[in-house]
Amino acid sequence: MLDEYYWLNKHDPNYSLCRATVKQGQDAHTDGKFNLSQKGCMEIMKLFFTKDEDLYDKTIEDVFDEEVLNSTFWLYWRTMFAFENWHSALEMKLYIQRFIHHIGGLPDFSALKFTKYNQYESLILPMKKYLEEAGVEFRFNTEVTNVLFDIKGGRKVATQIECKVKGQEERIMLTEDDLVFVTNGSCTEGTIYGDQNHAPNGDAEVRTSGCWSLWKNIAKQDPSFGHPEKFCSDIQKTNWESATITTLDDKIIPYITNICKRDPKSGKVVTGGIVSCQDSRWLLSWTINRQGQFKDQDKDKVCVWVYSLFTDVPGDYVKKPMKDCTGKEITEEWLYHLGVPTDQIEELADHSAVCVPTMMPYITAFFMPRAKGDRPDVIPDGCVNFAFLGQFAETPRDTIFTTEYSVRTAMELFTDCWA
Ligand SMILES: Cc1cc2nc3c(=O)[nH]c(=O)nc-3n(C[C@H](O)[C@H](O)[C@H](O)COP(=O)(O)OP(=O)(O)OC[C@H]3O[C@@H](n4cnc5c(N)ncnc54)[C@H](O)[C@@H]3O)c2cc1C
Repeated sequence: MLDEYYWLNKHDPNYSLCRATVKQGQDAHTDGKFNLSQKGCMEIMKLFFTKDEDLYDKTIEDVFDEEVLNSTFWLYWRTMFAFENWHSALEMKLYIQRFIHHIGGLPDFSALKFTKYNQYESLILPMKKYLEEAGVEFRFNTEVTNVLFDIKGGRKVATQIECKVKGQEERIMLTEDDLVFVTNGSCTEGTIYGDQNHAPNGDAEVRTSGCWSLWKNIAKQDPSFGHPEKFCSDIQKTNWESATITTLDDKIIPYITNICKRDPKSGKVVTGGIVSCQDSRWLLSWTINRQGQFKDQDKDKVCVWVYSLFTDVPGDYVKKPMKDCTGKEITEEWLYHLGVPTDQIEELADHSAVCVPTMMPYITAFFMPRAKGDRPDVIPDGCVNFAFLGQFAETPRDTIFTTEYSVRTAMELFTDCWA
């Protein structure tokens, strides 16, 4: 896997030839510039040197004003990392520190590398096969609803797993020699799909979801198990929506080529990271990775990924919020920002593409403002046979919304166990 990834990116390095557009598909000519004033730079430097504890429960708007928030730097940053102005100032600081060495490659995405296919086929499936061959058994259709603890004299022992297997309640009894690792929280929990003719719909507002209730049930038993409600209680602030748009013929291709200045069907880098539509009310960005992005993909089709940070404001062509749009309407809005003449948009969205919208209510839950103790330690104090893994466990070793962060929580766990 590493060889494939390394050599692919060596031979076909990623970089963008158009980072942003304005006025229906015209190059915004960001030209590698951050457009930060001296004051804006000082605000970023000040944040860089601020102690973690001074940033607890603070938002980005508490530490940056319009000098940063109106800059091209902020356009690059928030569209690339999916930060919203109301997100955690602490995590913003950790990101700057984590990626400072890549800052020169931020404007044109030369800092980025991509897998050959989508991450599921390039990373997850080979890993799953490797693990199965090593004797790991995956059990699907199993929802863990609670882990029960015996907590005495500072020792915390997981004694039972409560779960539903194909809807049937079951219990797994545990000894101190069984090890239980729980991923507490997931950015894709509660995901709702739409289709070409249906919006994902507003159920996102009310759904209760497995991993949050699991973490809430665990957290009730001890203060060291964290505060899930800090992350999962306000989906207005944690949702965004993405969509795949697959072309069905070649009518849209010239508009794509005009912006990314590459042939989308070459099998090589296409947009080289997202193209952000700077004046889009949805703050829509789109990207085309190396095609075929899916192993079974028809070689004549191009699969585009679109996402927007603001799902609850009307679009520029479609006068509806993205969350209420069908796949066809999302394609229309994208075609408008590609520069397709308005009298052709409806026809192309109807016959030249198919779109699957995906609403993710908790996609940025981990970016919500937080303080010490809101995320439990990987191994909370006193835990004998239990640990937390993933984006909502606390480790100083990386930044969230990255696969690396989850991997490092697992690495930390094993380092600590061995120590
Ligand atoms: C659109 C998108 C783009 C991304 N881009 C990048 C990127 O470019 N780079 C990057 O590094 N990262 C990226 N990420 C983030 C990255 O994918 C995640 O951080 C990572 O997958 C988290 O891994 P995890 O194993 O901790 O949790 P998850 O992958 O969320 O897995 C949690 C698992 O637990 C299961 N589960 C939840 N509750 C229960 C329960 N009660 N019982 C049983 N099972 C349960 C879920 O079904 C799921 O399989 C992206 C994510 C998304 C959605």
